[in-house]
Amino acid sequence: MRRLRLAIAGLTACSGCQLSLLNCEDELPELFEKFEFHFFPMACSPALLTGQYDAALVEGCLSMPHENELLQELRRRSVYLIALGTCAICGGVAALRNGEERELLRQQVYGQHLVAGETFDPMPLQNVVQVDAAVSGCPPEKQELLRMLAGLVRGVLPVNIDYPVCTECRMKENLCLLMERNALCLGPVILGGCGARCPSLAVPCEGCRGALAEANLAEALEIYAQKGFDRQIVLERLRRFSPEWQQ
Ligand code: SF4
Ligand code: SF4
Repeated sequence: MRRLRLAIAGLTACSGCQLSLLNCEDELPELFEKFEFHFFPMACSPALLTGQYDAALVEGCLSMPHENELLQELRRRSVYLIALGTCAICGGVAALRNGEERELLRQQVYGQHLVAGETFDPMPLQNVVQVDAAVSGCPPEKQELLRMLAGLVRGVLPVNIDYPVCTECRMKENLCLLMERNALCLGPVILGGCGARCPSLAVPCEGCRGALAEANLAEALEIYAQKGFDRQIVLERLRRFSPEWQQ
């Protein structure tokens, strides 16, 4: 059977999603039997785009012109383009300051005199190219990455998760940190799939997997208000990983 050709690229991000893939050490030998990691600059050199790809996995959001060129090229050459991680899906932490004056931000970070490269407000991949599927997380769970790759071997894309972190938290019979400990846990409105990793350790969910599109945010904000949490603080917390989330 032909090995599938993969391109794995990182845009504006911390490389954590790509690292999660490399951390699948036990599974890598089997993955190399199924996939040809043809373009993977973080792990292999030289890194040149050639020919067509069965899938491009793209980490990070878009904030520089050369990233846009790479993304467009990956889209042209790939059957499937898959957004890897929360930054690629909704902007993530890089987009936190969108809305503030960019030149001012540049000066605060680099000072008055340093000439920085051209950048624009960080944005999700779907703003400029068609995205066929997504694996959320900051970074994604190892099992999700492996499931996504196993699906590609069979020609199947990952199914979108449509339940919140709370669902998995209740299945684990955890104590509810929001209702029983008055902690600002974002579980009710955040995309599940992490197995309620944080609440299972008695740490409130910070929302790293991004907003659950189906969530009833108005209702959730009402519950947070009843618990004494300021609406603005809740929204700011929600936008830490999902800056484009409006309410
Ligand atoms: S602890 Fe958080 S994630 Fe778990 S049920 Fe309560 S609100 Fe939901
Ligand atoms: S519980 Fe929340 S913050 Fe923790 S890994 Fe899951 S989505 Fe991310």
